[in-house]
Amino acid sequence: MKHLLSTEGLDAATATAVLDTADSLKRTLLGREVRKLPTLRGRTVVSMFYESSTRTRVSFEVAGKWMSADVINVSAGGSSVGKGESLRDTALTLSAAGADCVIIRHPASGSAHRLAGWLSGTSTSVINAGDGTHEHPTQALLDAATLRERLGGIADRRVAIVGDVLHSRVARSNLHLLRTLGAEVVLVAPPTLLPDGLRKWLDAQKVPISHELDAELPAVDAVMMLRVQAERMHGGFLPVRAGVLDRVRLSEARLRLLPEHAVVLHPGPMLRGMEIASAVADSPSAAITEQVANGVHVRMAVLYHLLAHEEGSREAVAAQGSSTLRRGAGRPLRRAWGDRRGGVHRGRRGDRRGRACRPAGVRRPAHPPAGAGPGGRRDHRDRLGGRRAGRLHGGVRHGQHRSGGRQRG
Ligand code: ASP
Repeated sequence: MKHLLSTEGLDAATATAVLDTADSLKRTLLGREVRKLPTLRGRTVVSMFYESSTRTRVSFEVAGKWMSADVINVSAGGSSVGKGESLRDTALTLSAAGADCVIIRHPASGSAHRLAGWLSGTSTSVINAGDGTHEHPTQALLDAATLRERLGGIADRRVAIVGDVLHSRVARSNLHLLRTLGAEVVLVAPPTLLPDGLRKWLDAQKVPISHELDAELPAVDAVMMLRVQAERMHGGFLPVRAGVLDRVRLSEARLRLLPEHAVVLHPGPMLRGMEIASAVADSPSAAITEQVANGVHVRMAVLYHLLAHEEGSREAVAAQGSSTLRRGAGRPLRRAWGDRRGGVHRGRRGDRRGRACRPAGVRRPAHPPAGAGPGGRRDHRDRLGGRRAGRLHGGVRHGQHRSGGRQRG
């Protein structure tokens, strides 16, 4: 894996290997005072965010720093983008300056793919941190990590993705990844946020769709609420004010329709009172802060797979699932991340930078049985009781994205 651009086409073995790595990293760092591994020492990670972000930006930065990478944040305002430089020229400049990885968030759907194309002659990896309404693959991976923890697995679980499906890259990335991992996904949205074009594509993909949240809740293992993306609603969109969210808002009464073990997710930022009631967001069923915490480990895992994983191992992971990562299981786990003196420091290309640590092995995650875990045995009535718990053109200038992005289905 050189880039992570989308979950569409990401095979189950690779996705599972990333999730296993994240799980292993999480257990390695648990309870440590100093959360620092030398795995990416000498590697340079540059993030370019041309849309606002709190969680994604911070967690990528924390992830890089916990792995000892040099992390540099570039914002459109403070860079030559402000002088009118094109995205292509900015990307080539960063690569020439030594970036091993560029993390990009951009309002134009397709921007991360374009960037990867422009950088194809270089060794720089690209991570899509959200491109318009298209995809947000690390969000889907961290959601999958959270579901695995809470539910004990993803295969055969039923997940409702609810709300502003039309504008949500989170919905698209999750739809692909959850289905790849064997879950059943139902999309729940008001008709205005699930237009004909998208509906036809979903029908062809055999994805069930619904406009009534009440009817879906009793049969799901997880409900993933989506933010209402007002910033992408240009022109005639006023579905929110018209009250059409009423049938899909996750209210306190609706929370009681969920099975006891079911988990509530939200990618953030949440609009309390809009798509989700405040009491629901704070209920023990909600795994929203766990999602954020898992985001750091998942992004560490992604950086590791892109930058520190040997070529041979990467190919093997794709071919054999996580088995390659299990090599050397039984050795102290910290060794797997080069967390030792005199660790094996060899870059993925055995190259000049050559500081990334080679994995010795990763312990298999011990998943709890289905239904176990914090969401498993909760008293139904206590749920609310406590706080327990453009297409982009080469010459396009930043900020000149096409309004609303392109609907990619
Ligand atoms: N943070 C997520 C994203 O960037 C979800 C959202 O903004 O609603 O897509």
